[in-house]
Amino acid sequence: MNDMADTGTITETGTVVERADVEAVNAKATRETLYAERVKIHPKLVHGHWRRIKWAVMGVTLAIYYLTPWIRWDRGPNLPDQAVLIDFANTRFFFFFLEIWPQEFYFVTGLLVLAALVLFLMTALAGRVWCGYMCPQTVWTDLMIMIERLVEGDRGRRIVLDKLPMSGSKLAKRVIKHALWLLVALLTGGAWVFYFGDAPTLMVDLVTGQAPIVAYTTIGVLTATTYLLGGLAREQVCTYMCPWPRIQGAMLDDESLMVSYRGWRGEPRSHYRKGESWDNRGDCIDCKQCVVVCPMGIDIRDGAQLECINCALCIDACNDVMTKINRPGNLIAYDSFQGLSAAAKGENHRFRPLRPRTLIYAGLIAVVGLIMLTALLMRTELDVNVLRDRNPLFVRLSDGGVRNGYTLRILNKEHDSMHVVLTLDGLEGGQLVLQGHDSGTVEVPVDDLQSLRAFVVLSPEATRKAMAAGEDVLDFAIVAHDTQSDRTSRNSTTFRLPEGR
Ligand code: SF4
Ligand code: SF4
Repeated sequence: MNDMADTGTITETGTVVERADVEAVNAKATRETLYAERVKIHPKLVHGHWRRIKWAVMGVTLAIYYLTPWIRWDRGPNLPDQAVLIDFANTRFFFFFLEIWPQEFYFVTGLLVLAALVLFLMTALAGRVWCGYMCPQTVWTDLMIMIERLVEGDRGRRIVLDKLPMSGSKLAKRVIKHALWLLVALLTGGAWVFYFGDAPTLMVDLVTGQAPIVAYTTIGVLTATTYLLGGLAREQVCTYMCPWPRIQGAMLDDESLMVSYRGWRGEPRSHYRKGESWDNRGDCIDCKQCVVVCPMGIDIRDGAQLECINCALCIDACNDVMTKINRPGNLIAYDSFQGLSAAAKGENHRFRPLRPRTLIYAGLIAVVGLIMLTALLMRTELDVNVLRDRNPLFVRLSDGGVRNGYTLRILNKEHDSMHVVLTLDGLEGGQLVLQGHDSGTVEVPVDDLQSLRAFVVLSPEATRKAMAAGEDVLDFAIVAHDTQSDRTSRNSTTFRLPEGR
């Protein structure tokens, strides 16, 4: 975007519309190579419906990020009372009432799959709304631009300031701006480490220099990346570093809503003077207000572009202009390719949210959500994992019987110790021998994982009978019962016999 001052006026109803002398960073007429040297963008502040939504989303997302680690959650004695905590030391993840163990990482995987499917659905319905409103890069860049605007003024003032030689006042503004950017970046890095330790304790440790070195390093790295990506690189991250603009094309179809210029209504564009007729011309008065407010510096009138993050600020800018010149709003609007081409032919087209791809995404979201809900409801506090030895598969005993070896892992997610009795189910003639636990009962302390060796011995008679029947694999279960809480866990496994002997 060229940094030239806004000039020119257009009047219709006594109000003034500024005309910006500006060129979009990738203007159709001059677009050449994939990468071009950066042209500094000075987005102008716009007011309107979509900008208000963007402010609201920014406030909510930043509040969630900065405040979540400070929410307390009483889990009883000896357990952290932080609502959301990634407890590396004890390899657990606390999320409000949920306590996820490493063995249950599938919950995290399920959540990530669910998040991806929701993103696909959002994109199929309304294009890159994630990029325009919720992506951390967008949110922090918007915040950094807001600070820049507060310190250096809106677009016109910033352009002038850029051109002025260095002076005391310019230096002061630059120093204040970068200091505030660094403060935001520091708070961002600081908030992240609070997810990994008790926030109030860690805060004191950080201030008094007692926190682990990894905490300071993490804060340092995140401060640097937030400052660089949000403050300095800004739209360059979305255009050149992020793979999502390239991928999201696969989720879009002709019915997906995207911020679009209604060329059928706007063209032929030309400047407008008060009193001129609107006949034989379009509604676009070529004021370029849509370009100067764009945080990506592009001209939406050039059509759908990879750089567009669908933030809709150009809609607000153009609607403001349309109001001033007394023309209908939404010359730029969320519209689909189908909607645009139908309107160009003078036909009506209704947005169709229910389409095969949106229904498939919605169906997959429902299935994954249901699976996760079922897993959550069936989740037990007693978790037993049975691993059968692979080498040797079996041992032939001198009395004619056969023995298989197993490793049992008993996880106590209760906040009381467990007395677990282990028995066999479905293996006639089989006996369970626990190494180091003659009684057949294992005590598992609070929040602990017990690993033990176990052998299943099949009697000579049962072995002969099974082999005579041609069996070489027998299915059975190891049942664990906690006598304290009356919880039971049934774990299917197999018993191997010699083949054909
Ligand atoms: S589309 Fe609207 S804001 Fe953009 S140049 Fe035309 S009239 Fe101005
Ligand atoms: S063209 Fe409009 S919707 Fe796209 S990035 Fe620019 S302001 Fe946002």
